[in-house]
Amino acid sequence: MDQTRAVFQGKFDLLENIKISPLSRGYTFSDGVYEVVPFLNKTPIAFDDHIKRLKNSASALNIFPDLSKVSSEISALIDANEIVNGYVYYQISRGQDLTRNHLYESNLEPEYFGYIKNHDFHDQQFKVLLCDDIRWNRCDIKSISLLPNILMMNDAASKGCKEIIMHKEGLVTEAGASNVFFIMDENICTPKLNNNILPGITRSMTIEIFKKNGIDVLEEDFQVKHLLSASKIWLTSSTKGMAEVFDILSQEHNIKEESLLYDKCVSVFKKGFFN
Ligand code: PLP
Repeated sequence: MDQTRAVFQGKFDLLENIKISPLSRGYTFSDGVYEVVPFLNKTPIAFDDHIKRLKNSASALNIFPDLSKVSSEISALIDANEIVNGYVYYQISRGQDLTRNHLYESNLEPEYFGYIKNHDFHDQQFKVLLCDDIRWNRCDIKSISLLPNILMMNDAASKGCKEIIMHKEGLVTEAGASNVFFIMDENICTPKLNNNILPGITRSMTIEIFKKNGIDVLEEDFQVKHLLSASKIWLTSSTKGMAEVFDILSQEHNIKEESLLYDKCVSVFKKGFFN
């Protein structure tokens, strides 16, 4: 029996006992937003930043959730559980329709759903597929509508790649479920934020941690040719931390095995992220 602990509409229960209406707009339209809040030794990492981004994502959809309820439910899932290291997935969707309709009623009761999972924050390495970014123009919203990511990432998986790196009109955007950093000419580079990129919490923590340790990060528009000339590439996300890219499928690239600057980046990141 699956023992995953969850909460739906304020009621804590096993995940398998939670029942949701098929007329939930989360189900019919992917009309909602989400967060993945990592925790280590039962302490959430960058909790306030995740709540703030959830608020921003929800308000972009004209959903105005009770954020103190969200915070206390996430904390309660972490506190009342034996899991020490893991994450809480938490989603807010617009609510239930009486009849499926693109136009939503203004008085819908949002649906709050979360569950907790064990997670081992171990070092990961990725082979990636370069993809044309087929997503919409509001990827800064952490929407539960992820069909393009699903298509691209599963295509990559069928070719032996666990992640993708996307580009739009020649510019590198991000990965399927992470942000992208690379070292080019001994400079740390990451695509600058815009509507085509999720403002990753780990991305901004990385930049802050590096700055505190005297490592500058260039946040600019970068072309695919810049990425391919990089001596090191890595991905950041709440569950991956800092994960190295060791190969880009079917592309000539310049990724090297050794880089003292990269080793320094990994060491300062681990101290800053996990402490
Ligand atoms: N970009 C995308 C598309 C993502 O889905 C994610 C995380 O799921 C990230 C970036 C990384 O964001 P964070 O560091 O907040 O986990």
